Amino acid sequence: DEVSGTATSAPAARPSGEPLLPVVGASTTVPLVDGTSRAYANLDCAASAPALEAVTARITEVLPLYASVHRGAGYLSQVSTALYETSRESIARFVGARPDDVAIITRNTTDSLNLLAGVVPPGGAVLVLDVEHHANLLPWVQRSGGGHAGTGRVATVLPLQPTVAATLDALRTELARLPYALLTLTGASNVTGESLPLDRVVEIAHAAGARVAVDGAQLVPHRGFSLADTEVDYVAFSGHKTYAPFGAGALVGRRDWLDTGTPYLAGGGAVRDVRTDRTVWQPAPARHEAGSPNVLGAIALAQACDTLAALPAGALEAHEQALRTRLVTGLESLDGVRVARIWPDSADPVGVVTFTVGDLNPGLVAAYLSAEHGIGVRDGRFCAHPLLAHLGASNGAVRASVGVGTTTEHVDRLVDALGALVRRGA
Ligand code: PLP
Repeated sequence: DEVSGTATSAPAARPSGEPLLPVVGASTTVPLVDGTSRAYANLDCAASAPALEAVTARITEVLPLYASVHRGAGYLSQVSTALYETSRESIARFVGARPDDVAIITRNTTDSLNLLAGVVPPGGAVLVLDVEHHANLLPWVQRSGGGHAGTGRVATVLPLQPTVAATLDALRTELARLPYALLTLTGASNVTGESLPLDRVVEIAHAAGARVAVDGAQLVPHRGFSLADTEVDYVAFSGHKTYAPFGAGALVGRRDWLDTGTPYLAGGGAVRDVRTDRTVWQPAPARHEAGSPNVLGAIALAQACDTLAALPAGALEAHEQALRTRLVTGLESLDGVRVARIWPDSADPVGVVTFTVGDLNPGLVAAYLSAEHGIGVRDGRFCAHPLLAHLGASNGAVRASVGVGTTTEHVDRLVDALGALVRRGA
């Protein structure tokens, strides 16, 4: 129908036809195999999301103030220290930290989870699911002497259950079998975007006396998260997936283990007093942040957190859900395209979608999308080898993931390109 052009009768813009927030590189063009070029469609936000323009502006603003933190008496050192510490506060606030929680600035989620694995009290058993990203599997398995499924001295890996309900039952049973110190699980799968209901998981774990850690790498940037509301004990996430640059992440949670556990890095800044025969370590966060910290990374991450937190309630979810629904509907309309699911009864996945295209090699599909259509996706096993095996995709799959800079044009371009590929193969 003809649109009249008046403000009152104009149809609402198509949901997610525009980016939710401006990100850098949105107009970057990339070369195509036919010699032309095209604006890049970044559908790989789950791997690393493009920085927000607000983050770039903030970094430009603070770069001239760059000086050593914590140790310098000079004015700029004081400014840098204040910026670093207020960044810590923003990051903690973004994940709903409780007053007694501590926020440690790390390099990324992997770093955060390795740090946490090092402070679990000696002998404390840890329960982990096998659907995890390797970052939330290997730190625990490694510290248990490499043990898997029931054989580990400290870490037990729970095998995949076919439904959410069965998984909750299996968790309840396993948590009753041993006095676990910690259950650690993903807030949203980096393969399918799916999650377990955190409120139920926390209830089950806490009733059994176990703490809960959430790998928030995919949840925190795409949904927001609150330690206080969920009663989760620890959360880990990455700046480069939260619209800030590489190199900064965080571990936020209960202070006691972090105050007394083995310091993650030994060195200056983590100690109160060093003699030749004895070392007195600082409490957290300094205890785990030896060496000169990533001040700019922390400021960038804090800016991303503040910008996301300032969005109207529900805007992030609405934007990504509209795109995810459009993407899944489009993919499922194509012959031979199969969208992976872990649990048929899981609710409200984030915007991460993994699929296979008939018998086509996932690497070739991804290369085709890039070379002929300027679309960036990821292929492979997504650092989740046990899960890909469960999904019947040991040879890999293709993953498309959305973010605040993604638009319907990106999603439609992917679906159209795959449609052309499917027809070409037919
Ligand atoms: N956990 C999940 C669910 C992830 O998606 C990722 C990255 O893909 C990680 C952990 C590891 O994040 P990083 O590489 O930033 O440490």
